[in-house]
Amino acid sequence: MNNVTNNGRHELLSVVPLDLPYVIYVDVCGYCNFSCSFCPCNSSSYKQNERHKLLDYHNIERLCEDLGGGECQVIYLGCFGEPLLNPRIIDMIHILKASKACRELRILTNGYLLSQDLNEKIVGAGADLVRVSIEGLSADDYWKFCKVKLDYDKFISNLNDLFMRSRGTATKVSAKIIAAGLESNEDLQLFQKMFSSITDTCFCENISSGWPFFESGLKKIVGAGQLTYETADEAAKHVCSYPLTHLVVFANGSVGVCCSDWRMDTVVGDLGSQSIYDIWNGEALHAFRRKHLLRQKAEASPSCGVCSMYPPDNIDNDAEKILRRLESLENYSSKVAKE
Ligand code: SF4
Ligand code: SF4
Repeated sequence: MNNVTNNGRHELLSVVPLDLPYVIYVDVCGYCNFSCSFCPCNSSSYKQNERHKLLDYHNIERLCEDLGGGECQVIYLGCFGEPLLNPRIIDMIHILKASKACRELRILTNGYLLSQDLNEKIVGAGADLVRVSIEGLSADDYWKFCKVKLDYDKFISNLNDLFMRSRGTATKVSAKIIAAGLESNEDLQLFQKMFSSITDTCFCENISSGWPFFESGLKKIVGAGQLTYETADEAAKHVCSYPLTHLVVFANGSVGVCCSDWRMDTVVGDLGSQSIYDIWNGEALHAFRRKHLLRQKAEASPSCGVCSMYPPDNIDNDAEKILRRLESLENYSSKVAKE
């Protein structure tokens, strides 16, 4: 295909506007059983009452109605909290897979609640990927970073159990550690030694402070791992492409634009009263995209104004063309005008 870049991504200029987002993060539980110092989930009191919710199952049914058989590439269950705390998580995996809401269904978890019973259910429900965030290499690390008492041997044993149960199924298991959880390159090697035999992939992520208005204190070990997100300086990008490709469903059912927006600053709709299709094609999101494409990100939302996270796509040179294209499409404008 000529609209695929050499890293396998679609060139956005040639595919926008998308009928539906490529990627949707669904925060099925907005709170967490850990209190990691580098994460605002429990470490900030800002909007805690709105953030610390369990997503109602009805919202997942609504997503399935709109997305079934469509173009959504990936749905992540988990974003700002711990998804396995939602008692209906297995039902959610089942219905999302059965309705073909996305090509890949991925679960982002701290892994604390993994057990033989839950592992069997996760694999049986057909999750495509379980990504476990590893916060340290010992129980002491978990206490230091997450303020949680962890039986580390049991944790490893449950992860191993998940891996073994997933053999011969569609489910893949991955382990991710952030560079802040490592003291040295020796630690990185130890991490790889500990996790490479009980996961399909294990990797270290070098992240910059990704939470607007929250000082994570994360350090960065250059060369320790891959960069999932890049800072604006490193990437020399000025226009964020997330509004063209991503959505996030917050645990209270409202819908925003990106997985950095823990403050719920980018809200453009609500699943309680709108379909995901209407939100994606609605005026609020179009106005938000417009600000970004015009390089007025601070006017899109306060968080965007201070954000240093940029997705992999660089659309700086295409922003004007994309905006012209969006605004010249008759059906796009009429959809917006109907709101
Ligand atoms: S486990 Fe993840 S969601 Fe929970 S507090 Fe730590 S970083 Fe945040
Ligand atoms: S600028 Fe930052 S906060 Fe705004 S949509 Fe992009 S990644 Fe999210």
